[in-house]
Amino acid sequence: MHRERLLYEGKAKKVFSTDDPDVLIVSYKDDATAFDGQKKGVISGKGAINNRMTNHFMRKLAAAGVPTHYLEELNERETAVRKVTIVPLEVIVRNISAGHFSSRYGVEEGLVFDEPIVEFSYKNDDLHDPLVNDDHAVALKLATREEISTIRSYALQINELLKALLLEAGVTLVDFKLEFGKTSDGALVLADEISPDTCRFWDSKTGEKLDKDRFRRDLGKVEDAYQEMQRRVMGGKDV
Ligand code: C5P
Repeated sequence: MHRERLLYEGKAKKVFSTDDPDVLIVSYKDDATAFDGQKKGVISGKGAINNRMTNHFMRKLAAAGVPTHYLEELNERETAVRKVTIVPLEVIVRNISAGHFSSRYGVEEGLVFDEPIVEFSYKNDDLHDPLVNDDHAVALKLATREEISTIRSYALQINELLKALLLEAGVTLVDFKLEFGKTSDGALVLADEISPDTCRFWDSKTGEKLDKDRFRRDLGKVEDAYQEMQRRVMGGKDV
């Protein structure tokens, strides 16, 4: 598998074409942004941790029957994935109030919901990823109603699987963001990443934040939190 052309460079990842038209290579960066790109920084070692942790979770989810774009970890920072067309929706699942849920609705952090919340944002930098409901998403042709229903059930299944895996690691899954893509034959698969950049992880006993909120809120020990999550989830192994 060879990297060919840089197709896209985002805030935290680069995507390259390869000699196989159905395969892309994702390369994870240490760059970090927050608050719609207004805050910028570097979290040393983050790219390698996010690459390995994402792949670890993707393999576990695939084994449990969730289709994903994951193909093969190539090295510390790079992974081969199936080429997909990304559905322009950020799919956010929340178990506990935090972040924009708390600020938008004026509630404290840490309220445990009776049922998980699934919400969608329209992936559009110019519009700052506005919140949309199912009807908006269908009207804007971001996805069909059937696709939204499939995405919602995958998101809830992924939530249950991740919650259980993390509980064993002494971590509470507060909320997270997923992205889905469509393969050339129209199948929906999980894409993007599952990492401390895209999830809120709290230590189950102390409530200590072990995710990108340490960077967003200048809480210090940012690198330590990413390393601690890698250690807890993967046991320090390069699996
Ligand atoms: O900011 P908000 O509270 O809506 O974020 C909910 C979850 O989605 C958090 O875990 C956050 O890290 C993730 N997220 C993300 N990328 C975005 C927006 C949110 O990974 N663009």
